[in-house]
Amino acid sequence: MGGGARSVGCDLRRDVVRIVVTHYHPDHLGAARWLQERSGAPVMMLEKEIQHAREIWASSDPAPFIEHLTRNGMDRALAEKAAAGMRSSMSLPKEMAPLREGEKLELGAITGRVLHAEGHADYQIILHDEVRGVLLAADHVLLRITPNIGLWSDTEPRPLARYLESLEELRGLPVDLVLPGHGPLFHDLDDRIGELSLHHEERLEEMRRVIEVSPKEPFEVSREVFRYGLSVYEQCFALAETLAHLDYLADEGHTERVEDVPSRILYRTKGGG
Ligand SMILES: [Zn+2]
Repeated sequence: MGGGARSVGCDLRRDVVRIVVTHYHPDHLGAARWLQERSGAPVMMLEKEIQHAREIWASSDPAPFIEHLTRNGMDRALAEKAAAGMRSSMSLPKEMAPLREGEKLELGAITGRVLHAEGHADYQIILHDEVRGVLLAADHVLLRITPNIGLWSDTEPRPLARYLESLEELRGLPVDLVLPGHGPLFHDLDDRIGELSLHHEERLEEMRRVIEVSPKEPFEVSREVFRYGLSVYEQCFALAETLAHLDYLADEGHTERVEDVPSRILYRTKGGG
């Protein structure tokens, strides 16, 4: 990372003023401690995200994660394998400074206003420069892939509904350039918001059809919807994404969540068998 920064004329020891982290996922927060140790700059996240990151990454107990996966139909051996890779502890920056929604930050050539953009992560932020029309979109709006909207053991309720509401709030925002957390930059924010909303509508319809045939465990639904050869981690993301959609359908009243035996959860069409 140091070499990459040097190649664009940045000295990490001297030029980093603050480290703004959009959310707690390891591909975003993972290098913050390393960079803080080199630069001495403060690491900043939304206050609730600081707390959440500490809860998730300071604990090395995989039990709640495994319990969540198996209750929703995943085989225990697979769940244990997933937990070993996905819930190992991560060393966090020693200190993290809280950001507030609406706050403005000088970020080199731009001034970013902090916006709370939930759904992919409960306390994710994005940064908007309204004068220059720039949006640092984190994992909220990506171009080539759809952001994972998942219901995990630590997620607040209704992640998909909150994501879609949050997307709608961004419509019409003065933006000419979107710099996402992964993949290429792009320009037409409203167009991409439309595509992402449509994608979730179609996926909701697909899941509704799958459980209309017969009541199913969430993991079974995820295997029907995400059919291709997935790695163990991808199967967890597929399950979390499926749960977010089933939760949305249940919230709408089309579907219900039933526990037929205490440790087993099924989703079925409301009024169905
Ligand atoms: Zn992420």
